[in-house]
Amino acid sequence: MANYKQHLAGGIFFGTICTLVSVFVFGFTIVNSLTIFILGVLGSILPDIDCDGSTPAHMLFEVMGLLVPILFLNRFLSNLSLENIIFFLVFGYIFTKFFLSFIFHRFTVHRGIVHSIPAAVIIGGMVFLAFKDTSFYLKLIYALACTGGFIVHLTMDEIWAVDICNNRLKNSFGTALTFWSHSLVTTSAAYIIIICMAFHLYYNVKIPGSFDIEEGRCSTVPELTHEKLKNTGWADRFLIDINSTWPTLCKRYFKS
Ligand SMILES: [Zn+2]
Repeated sequence: MANYKQHLAGGIFFGTICTLVSVFVFGFTIVNSLTIFILGVLGSILPDIDCDGSTPAHMLFEVMGLLVPILFLNRFLSNLSLENIIFFLVFGYIFTKFFLSFIFHRFTVHRGIVHSIPAAVIIGGMVFLAFKDTSFYLKLIYALACTGGFIVHLTMDEIWAVDICNNRLKNSFGTALTFWSHSLVTTSAAYIIIICMAFHLYYNVKIPGSFDIEEGRCSTVPELTHEKLKNTGWADRFLIDINSTWPTLCKRYFKS
């Protein structure tokens, strides 16, 4: 199988392609396209989270220790005081890094259900649900970027399982790009999660009639004209810049 650095290189390659397409084909903003890049790279190393004690698993739980409390605050709590935010960040980090990581490794094995197509679908669903205030098609592209990165990882594991020089297949061949694991319990659990997610999305998410590039932009930052821009502070200006498309940004700063 491919090692961590090879997966990271594959993820960066995939994330870069997704970012270029999002910028030049869909005209997404800097923040949107950077999110697509990060999700593509994250997806490409995520399957090795099941390898207890490995560098990727250690690193991924560090990242999740930061992401889980941020997602929780974003979804359920807002306008908290700084003390409360610090408490949630520290508590969430310790809870994820030590408790969730222990439970996760207790119930998974390397190259089990986490290295499978159903896991790739679940991770896409989780990304879609995590971005609650984002427009439908943008969330869908985020989810596809992460699932795509995940499938890149599984494909690389399968390719590296083929020993071309000795014209034979290694034992790991066929354990990554698969629809099930050896355990009936974890396979059933994965498909039950997918069915629950599908029902939730079917009853709670409305599919807009057409893909709207404008709608795809970050709705929390208002579009400002050049005149209004002069009256804003540096923080607002920075926020506006990163929520602009590349052509708008170039026009703003490199207009002769
Ligand atoms: Zn792997």
